[in-house]
Amino acid sequence: MPFLELVNVKKQFGGVRAVDDVSLAVEEGEFLVLVGPSGCGKTTLLRMIAGLEETTDGTIIIAGKDVTAREPGDRDVAMVFQNYALFPHMTVFDNMSFGMRMAGVPKTEIESRVSEAARFLQLTDMLKRKPAQLSGGQRQRVAMGRAIVRRPNAFLMDEPLSNLDANLRVQMRAEISRIQKDLGVTTVYVTHDQIEAMTMADRVAVLHKGILQQAASPAILYDEPANVFVASFLGSPSMSLVEAGVEATASGVTLKVGPQSIQLSRADIERFPKLPALSGKRVVVGLRPEDIGVAEAQLPEPGYALFGDLPAQVVLTEMLGADEIVYAQVEADWVSSPQLRALLAAADPLTTADSDPSRKERRPLMICRSSRRTATVRRGDHIRLCADLTRLHLFDSSTGLSLRASGGSASSAAMAAPIARNITRKV
Ligand code: ATP
Repeated sequence: MPFLELVNVKKQFGGVRAVDDVSLAVEEGEFLVLVGPSGCGKTTLLRMIAGLEETTDGTIIIAGKDVTAREPGDRDVAMVFQNYALFPHMTVFDNMSFGMRMAGVPKTEIESRVSEAARFLQLTDMLKRKPAQLSGGQRQRVAMGRAIVRRPNAFLMDEPLSNLDANLRVQMRAEISRIQKDLGVTTVYVTHDQIEAMTMADRVAVLHKGILQQAASPAILYDEPANVFVASFLGSPSMSLVEAGVEATASGVTLKVGPQSIQLSRADIERFPKLPALSGKRVVVGLRPEDIGVAEAQLPEPGYALFGDLPAQVVLTEMLGADEIVYAQVEADWVSSPQLRALLAAADPLTTADSDPSRKERRPLMICRSSRRTATVRRGDHIRLCADLTRLHLFDSSTGLSLRASGGSASSAAMAAPIARNITRKV
């Protein structure tokens, strides 16, 4: 039985639907991360779980009990906020023990719980200090300690690392994961940072405009995104997306990408059983940067196929040490549906700004990650691109939903749900 269940949960603030019919189950001990762009409803959803925000509709179940109408204090969950909300005039010990003292927990029990949590959080030598005498990371650990000593059924964390500098974030990321695994407490964690989501979570739930897009393990989200929004939002640099025509023939299926025809193998087609029926229609083709190569350097590597002679011109290169990221404009069509373009602009403003079809001189970008040992290209170079077609992603060009057979994604929620309310389901 799941530990936390959200059933058709909705939240309306006047004319704004902040959370739109979200259903999601979190297993006991699971680390679930809610992620999405600003304003997607993640904080509102977390506050509803905590009882700090009333639900407009739907049911919230914690440990088998319907808590939808219960006060926050009756839910046995502990919130950890972005601003640590420590009392500045109190010592670390007093901050950590405050809730227990208010609840009348005996002194010896308080001391034992605080010293256990302090040992765990490496704060033992700092119990007499005040918050002003601590670093940001230490303050965050005190805030965690205050939640841990309560021994709650669940932790609810709202962007707890966003006030820390980049190095400390990486360190605290690992620490929070370790603490959560050691304690085995069910945790729901909100962030807008996809790296945080992918590195910390057992499962990630992606939200956009209050709608749950997909909930799955980081690997499934990355390899089998349910729709173009998830595909574009997760991954850095993001997935390259272009529109292509489909032609089913007696010998198989051909994708027409710009001036090029790409013949798909039987195995490729098996992953997309709906594809032959889409003959004559358009689909959105997606490839991750690590699956695209500069043809002159990459071929003939096993698994790679020449992406026709897809004309491409390098507009930018980024040196990452061992690898180089090559941004190339290709002679192909970008996504034509205005609704999907709006979704993609929300998921990845950088790439879509360059691909805006209203700017006539612009062409869609394809982004490839090449080994610097094999590829040396420069801005302005004309190159040919190749791609690992076994890693191809295909999406419906009007609904944006994946055309992949859903068998491998049984754990993915929202596989067939609409991405946005104004896009009707077609597949
Ligand atoms: P961020 O990452 O920027 O914190 P978020 O994903 O956590 O964003 P929410 O804070 O949950 O998003 O807000 C979701 C939507 O609900 C937004 O459009 C926001 O403006 C709206 N909203 C949130 N709280 C209220 C409120 N009290 N009254 C009116 N609208 C609200």
